[in-house]
Amino acid sequence: MKNKMFILILVSIFLGVACGVFFPEKMLTIRWIGTLFINMLKLIVLPLVFCALVSAITSMGGVKRLGSIGFYTISYVLLSVSIAVTIGIVLLNVFKPGVGIPSSFILANASPGESKAVEFSSFLLTLFPPNIIEAAAKFEIMPIVFFSIVFAIACLSVGETAKPVIAFFVGLRNVFVKMIIWLMYLTPIGLFSLLGCAIAEASLQNRLLESAKGMFLYIVIFLFGLFLQILWQLAVIKFITKRNAKAFAGSASNAMITAFATSSSMATLPVTLVVAKEQNINEDVARFVLPLATTINLAGTAMYEAVSALFFCQILGLDLSIPAQIGVFVTAIVAGMGATGIPEGGLVTMIMVLRVVNVPTSAIALLLPFDRILDRFRTMTNVWGDLVCAATVDHFASSKSTVKTIEMEKGKTLSYPE
Ligand code: ASP
Repeated sequence: MKNKMFILILVSIFLGVACGVFFPEKMLTIRWIGTLFINMLKLIVLPLVFCALVSAITSMGGVKRLGSIGFYTISYVLLSVSIAVTIGIVLLNVFKPGVGIPSSFILANASPGESKAVEFSSFLLTLFPPNIIEAAAKFEIMPIVFFSIVFAIACLSVGETAKPVIAFFVGLRNVFVKMIIWLMYLTPIGLFSLLGCAIAEASLQNRLLESAKGMFLYIVIFLFGLFLQILWQLAVIKFITKRNAKAFAGSASNAMITAFATSSSMATLPVTLVVAKEQNINEDVARFVLPLATTINLAGTAMYEAVSALFFCQILGLDLSIPAQIGVFVTAIVAGMGATGIPEGGLVTMIMVLRVVNVPTSAIALLLPFDRILDRFRTMTNVWGDLVCAATVDHFASSKSTVKTIEMEKGKTLSYPE
């Protein structure tokens, strides 16, 4: 099925480009199909973000049990995701791949008035709305994220009587993940329409070649960013955990190949656990840290969201002032931590980052042709980051002799629906 899908994606890219170039006017008449696809993605994003965050935070089992391992894990994840996003933002500011690409590439699929300048103060105010339901109805994602985090911590503090609530949201998250998997089957059709319309607009303006150059630069920059992310974590293995970096990378490569093949860090988790065992990472630490990191440590994804949002801003000539970039920095971190480790999980939360800088959601169309392949590389980076996280937490936890046996609730994070 995966291979068939891959072939279908290739076919729809080919047809989309060909129809966009040769029949641009006809192509524009089926723009609504792409809009429908985007709407379906948007439909799932709010409940998914809520359930994914609640189940990730509550999977720690109890406020008291967060303990030192939980603290080290969260600290590492925050650091690694922040570094990933910083690398992305710096590279984008230095190379500016979006400058010169016609804005019609994005606006071709946008509803009128969707793109406007950013006001950071109003962004801050929207974080704390008086009515959470109203915020959800207006598709304000950040307040929902803040609300979910506080809600999850409250569930943990309540303890026993909140357990059914937690189980409900974990189950609900699995249902949404299933819906996303179904939705991904429609990608070839959505892709054909979205890509075809973007190409049609550009080909009507004869600016295709100029745009292809910018896209190529964007991809190279992103892959270089992922490489840097892998590199600094390799240094952590060598200089902080004092492990044999070559041997660690050697056994991690098994998990990374699986990640490349499946495009899913969650599906790779069983292999990641085996690698951790091979590398003599304390089993209790690995069983707690790896499922948690797989859920929240999506550094490659966070970098992708930041790089893409800024790339779109450059194309649209939108405000790239320091407050706007801080907005991207913060939301990309949250989006990376809230994304699900499934194929193209990051595309859904990208909508959230785009909202913050007022880029039309339809901009994602530009990425769709390359997303399948870029997804494989960022999944590899995510899985590598999870292993380094486990090794680092193991290093700090055992050096302070604070390792306690933590019982993993079986099936909790492995219950990814096939
Ligand atoms: N496929 C990625 C993962 O599983 C998530 C994403 O970036 O779309 O880690």
